[in-house]
This record gives sequence, C-alpha cells and structure tokens, in this order.
Amino acid sequence: MQTNFSLAQLADPQTYASEKILRACVHCGFCTATCPTYVLLGDELDSPRGRIYLIKDMLEHEQPATREVVKHIDRCLSCLACMTTCPSGVHYMHLVDHAREHIEKTYKRPLFDRAIRAMLARVLTDPALFRLAAVAGWVAKPLAPLLRALGLKRMAAMLALTPGRRLAPPAERTGKVHAAQGPRRGRVALLSGCIGPELSPSTNEATIRLLNRTGIEVVVAAGEACCGSLVHHMGREQQALAMARNNIDAWTRELEGAGLDAILITVSGCGTAVKDYGFMLRTDPAYAVKAARIAALAKDVSEYLATLNIQAAAPPARLTVAYHAACSLQHGQKVAREPKELLSKCGFVVKDVPEGHLCCGSAGTYNILQPDLAERLRDRKVANIEKLQPDVIAAGNIGCITQIAAGTAIPVVHTVELLDWATGGPVPEQLADLAGVEPAAAATG
Ligand code: SF4
Ligand code: SF4
Repeated sequence: MQTNFSLAQLADPQTYASEKILRACVHCGFCTATCPTYVLLGDELDSPRGRIYLIKDMLEHEQPATREVVKHIDRCLSCLACMTTCPSGVHYMHLVDHAREHIEKTYKRPLFDRAIRAMLARVLTDPALFRLAAVAGWVAKPLAPLLRALGLKRMAAMLALTPGRRLAPPAERTGKVHAAQGPRRGRVALLSGCIGPELSPSTNEATIRLLNRTGIEVVVAAGEACCGSLVHHMGREQQALAMARNNIDAWTRELEGAGLDAILITVSGCGTAVKDYGFMLRTDPAYAVKAARIAALAKDVSEYLATLNIQAAAPPARLTVAYHAACSLQHGQKVAREPKELLSKCGFVVKDVPEGHLCCGSAGTYNILQPDLAERLRDRKVANIEKLQPDVIAAGNIGCITQIAAGTAIPVVHTVELLDWATGGPVPEQLADLAGVEPAAAATG
C-alpha cells in the first residue's frame, strides 16, 4: 500500500512502525474471510482491510478520530485471525494498538462510554476492587434481564458475566516459591496477574502442582501484578506501560537472583501482551533491553509443558474434549499444536471445533463493551462445539472459559487442569459430577 507520511511524521517511532505495516498490505482481501466482524456484518469497514484504510487515513492526515472510525475500530476484537491469514505478514496487532491509542488521545467518547471504560480499566486490573465488584455483581445478577430490557446492554452483560458463585477467600499469591518434588529440573516464574486467579484460582494451583511434580520449581515473583493487556487494548498506553515496567522489574529481580528458565502464563491474552513487552518498550532507554529479555522468556504454559515430556500413567477417563483454541493463543502466539498434543498424550480424545479460527466473542472487555456482537459470536461458537457432543471443553484463556461457559451446560475447563488431573492431580471441580470420572493414576514426568 502506498503511503504519504512526511519525514516529520516518520520521525515519530510509532508512526514509523505503523507506516511499515501499512506498506506491507497489498489490499488482497484474503483476511476478510476469516475476520469475525466481517463474517457477521458483511461491511468492508468492519474487515481488516477496511480498518487498515481507516487507520491509514486517520494517521496520515493526523486527524482526530471520528465517530465513524471509532465505531469500526471498537468493533474489532483484536482476535488477530487476520494476521494468521495474511500472506504479506501485515502486523495488524501493532497497527490497531496504535490506532486505539490515537483514539484515546483525540476522541471524546460520550459520558457513559467514558465512565464504563474508566471503571473497567480500574476494576479489572485490581484484584481487591474486582472482589468488591464481584460481590455487588453477584447480588445484582438477577437484574441482568431487566437492564437488558431497558436497553442497558453493557451493564446487563457485565452482570451476566459476574461469577455465579462466591469467590474463594483472598490469598497472598506473590512472593512465593513452590519447590520441585525430587531432583530440580528447572525453575520458572508463573504470572499470577490480576483477576485470573480470582475467577479461577484452580488454574494456577493445577499448574504449580503439575510443574512441581515434574521437577520444576515455580516462583510467583514478589511485586508482579496485572500484565497491562486489558488497558493496552483500550488504548490506555501509559497505564499499560507502567504495568509492563512493574512486571519487568519483578521478573528481572528473579532472573538476576535465583535465575529463571521461563516465565509462564496460563491466560493466553496476558501471554500475548507479555511476549510483546519488547516492542511496547522499545523506545524506553531504561527498559528496552530488559523488556526484550523478559519477552523472550515468556511462554504459554502449554509451550513449556510440551518440552517436559509429561505423561499420564493411565488416563483418568476416556473423555472427549472439544479443544477451543483461544485467539490470543492460536493467532497471537501461534501456539496451536501443543495443547492438543498434550491432551491426547494424556489419554483424552481431542476434537477440533469447526470454524475454530473464529473468536468466541470474549476478547478482553469486548463482551461487555460490544455485547450484541459478542453474544452472536458466543452462540455461534457454542453451536459449533455442541455439534461435537464433547464431555468437556478445554481452553487456555479464562476470558474464553467464562464467555463459553455462559452459553452452554457442557463443563469448560482450563487445559492445564485436565493435564494436572491426568498426571495425578485432583479431578477439576467442574467435572466432579460427570459420570465415569475417577481420580487419576499416579503421575509420571
Ligand atoms: S483482529 Fe479480528 S476482528 Fe479485528 S480486523 Fe483482525 S480478524 Fe477482524
Ligand atoms: S490479507 Fe494482508 S495484505 Fe491482504 S488485505 Fe488483508 S492485511 Fe492486507
């Protein structure tokens, strides 16, 4: 694509990076076929190619974002299916991140929109605030249909996604070392982050058990917190960068202290962000090198487990697992094979979900901010999953797990919890009532 940025504009590192991305696009339109919003809405401006044109025009002319541009960029899920499809290697993620930041700086959203975004950016990144909000949401949850009928769809979506049970008691998770069983084969840091462990403490507990059993020491670094992914996708760049720097400092202390072989992440949306820390902080002289070093160590938990040769001594149950590939894992991190291979190796019958490239509609805060589209995508995803008649659905991202679970009675479990169970851990809570489910045989690794 031809661009017309001035030299002065290109002196800005972000514009320079975006211009290179824009030039890589050859307008072929292959990406439109796999873009969930284009598939649903059929509007070129809701396709990757259409959005790329809108972003180019906005950045080239240094225009404040218009309502029209904001509408189409807001509808983008940042699912990155377009990056998997694009034959020219267009880095849409960095381009849309730049566009969102530009929108945040130049566009004044309506008051309610600003309020709900500010609230989400605050509450979803702070476990203590999230716990308070979850209690309020739990009490008000029955009002969701009424709010929906009154047209307050975002509030209704927020209540509908509130956990339908009390959260586990608060626990101090950071600053802890979980020792390996037997001879130590390695040492990793595990991201605890923000609301993931509040929504599903069992996921990181299963990860720690499984790794320890396999001879891996696990540290949850003192001082680590939210990775910044949620606010990054809302265009709140300074907040996201501050969160990234905080985690880089926490992990660097561990790296330079007792050492780290990897930094593991069990929420694939967060993993995509941590792997991008090097790019996000490339122009910060104090952090560029450290950020690149941390990003290079970041791995989805399934990537790391695939290197450890874990095996079930005997499969706990011959369950059929529909594997839902989270967009952030399959498109953002290009981790597609490992989770399925691990599950198969541990005795599960793994099935791919039809239209597996399409997002489930979770996408960070998308299911709250764009409830109609998110619901259509969820219903489509659930219909595709239910065609497989699985016993259980596995996924590697708490956002997808929450979203899909809201649309089906089939249990939805994090992949690592199935692997932990198969190698000697407890039966995942969601499967406790499933007929034929027995505790697993002893582990090997
Ligand atoms: S990130 Fe997803 S929703 Fe956004 S343009 Fe690409 S394919 Fe479409
Ligand atoms: S597939 Fe890639 S090169 Fe083709 S229009 Fe989409 S982004 Fe541009």
